Amino acid sequence: MVPANNQATILHADLDAFYASVEQRDNPALQNMPMAVGTGIILSASYQARAMGVKTTMNVQVAKQYCPGLVTVEPRMEAYDSASQEVFEIFDDTTPYVEALSIDEAFLEVGGLRKIVGPPIEVAQILRNRIAGETGLPISVGIARTKFLAKVASGASKPDGLLLVEPDSELEFLHPLPVRSLWGVGKVAEGKLLAKGIATVGEVANAGITKLEQILGKSSGEHLYNLANNIDNRQVTKTKRRQSIGAQQALSPKNMNYAEIETLLIALVDRVTKRLRDGNRLAKTVMLRFRFGDFRSDTRSVSVADETDSTPELLAIARNILRNRRPEIETSGLTLIGFTLANLSTGEGIQQALDFTNNASPKLDIALDAVKDRFGTNSIGRAGLLSYEESVHTPVIPDTPD
Ligand SMILES: [Mg+2]
Repeated sequence: MVPANNQATILHADLDAFYASVEQRDNPALQNMPMAVGTGIILSASYQARAMGVKTTMNVQVAKQYCPGLVTVEPRMEAYDSASQEVFEIFDDTTPYVEALSIDEAFLEVGGLRKIVGPPIEVAQILRNRIAGETGLPISVGIARTKFLAKVASGASKPDGLLLVEPDSELEFLHPLPVRSLWGVGKVAEGKLLAKGIATVGEVANAGITKLEQILGKSSGEHLYNLANNIDNRQVTKTKRRQSIGAQQALSPKNMNYAEIETLLIALVDRVTKRLRDGNRLAKTVMLRFRFGDFRSDTRSVSVADETDSTPELLAIARNILRNRRPEIETSGLTLIGFTLANLSTGEGIQQALDFTNNASPKLDIALDAVKDRFGTNSIGRAGLLSYEESVHTPVIPDTPD
């Protein structure tokens, strides 16, 4: 269970200008430019466009009055979904306690990682570095004792920021903020509060509950009073089990040879299939994600007839998909490889076919998992991985708790 919280252990992680950042990542011509996604209404604007006054939900015609050089592009929801999946895979790889709020933000409870990884601020820094390195997207993280404050902190740290609010400086941080920063305060409530001379969160806290209930009604009044005094007992609740699990690896240097890339893939498959079995699940679909040196991205998937949790079986499929891309990899280079298992089901009640055709041994997988649980995921590996680690003297995959 999540420990009772009297320390700042809740992370609120939120990608910056999400859609616009994906477009800038995928198209170098858009980088460092005032640009926005949306051709009628602005859905997301780059920070360069925001600096000129462009805002989300603004009409494009109006936005161009503020920012005559504004470049707008059509939304590509598939690209955003896939980027979101990459980011959530890193969240899930960081802690088991991930509560998704939207396509690009989540709460993460990281209090239990202190001994294994480090204090929340270190966990947050590792998370930010991984997301930047593996997905090429900027993310801001707020850390606090309560969910509300963590969210306010990430907002205050943007763009590309990190902000920890220590428990003893919570009210100092919160009280000077405008009332608009409180959850649930929109234009209407803001107007009512301003009319009574209440402009800051501190003034909301000082107004007292009775006065707030008179201004805003009983439930809103109490809600705002609690937030303004930072009374927020909500814990991070794991969102429902995901329909896919996966991991990816940014490749550096870009000119890794094919054998090295294949070795990395083996490590990814090992790690993800272990998580699959830890969750007592079976997979039907193997997906590989590629980002090539020329910025093209591509996803390829293969489904099997019988769902499985066998590493050798899933690895064989993954290697096959990789082999089909070999010519492209060798001409363009690869900057990212991802391995995802989708169409997951719970394994209960399903009789697995015994496989006598190769070395696939459920017993071997279970034994390997037990060693990894005990000694960490880098303690044991397949022979392909060993030879890679011997030849390149850097850790291939950062060791993260499952
Ligand atoms: Mg965001």
